[in-house]
Amino acid sequence: MDLILLGAPGAGKGTQGALLAERLGIPKIATGDILRDAVRRGTELGRQAKRYMDAGELVPDEVILGLVRDALREAERGAIFDGFPRNVSQAESLRSILEELGRRIDAVVSIDVPSEKIVRRMTGRRTDPETGLVYHLEHNPPPAEVRDRLVQRDDDREETVRHRLEVYRTTTEPLVAFYRESGVPLYAVDGDRAIDQVQGEILELLERNTPVGS
Ligand code: ADP
Ligand code: ADP
Repeated sequence: MDLILLGAPGAGKGTQGALLAERLGIPKIATGDILRDAVRRGTELGRQAKRYMDAGELVPDEVILGLVRDALREAERGAIFDGFPRNVSQAESLRSILEELGRRIDAVVSIDVPSEKIVRRMTGRRTDPETGLVYHLEHNPPPAEVRDRLVQRDDDREETVRHRLEVYRTTTEPLVAFYRESGVPLYAVDGDRAIDQVQGEILELLERNTPVGS
């Protein structure tokens, strides 16, 4: 199954994607995670991407598509796309890439959270660099033994978050209409609830609507 998680920065795509990946036994392809890993390792790609990321701008499509093609080599049975596609052009490219593999997007889940809640989510977000797990200081507190090694993302400063939200509204949100018009099953989920409630609703929607074995 190939599934896209759509939603503003901080809506919970990474959190829900990790739970779904485990539950469904297919990998999560998170372009933001791949880019941050390249930045950490100091590769040429990381160096190029960092200035866009720090400014809250999108990294150029050709860079992203290369990463996705690579990641798909390890995802023969499907993938959960988190943070990709981010614009209509990336969505069209994804459609062609999957078509070449004899696949198509089975579902798009849009996780909706009101903008005013997003900034608080982002400023409280902390990541464990060893496991990649994402926590929130209030809503999803880390266990005491990992607390001291948690890091805050460079682009989670309030000013950058506001710009990323703007980029989301102008560039990524139109994908909801794109997928609706393409006839891909599209589900809107209220993301402003507890993590396990959101997960429960996504699983229920998928189970109810996806033929077994796809
Ligand atoms: P969030 O989960 O907060 O929405 P991501 O981790 O998905 O953020 O992305 C962080 C940054 O990485 C983005 O602001 C952008 O600079 C870059 N990025 C990630 N995915 C893409 C993509 N598909 N296209 C272009 N840029 C991307
Ligand atoms: P995204 O990948 O969409 O940017 P994340 O999954 O990284 O979002 O979540 C952003 C922050 O909000 C993280 O600190 C995460 O722990 C927290 N979070 C995720 N889902 C919820 C939720 N349902 N309620 C409260 N906080 C949440």
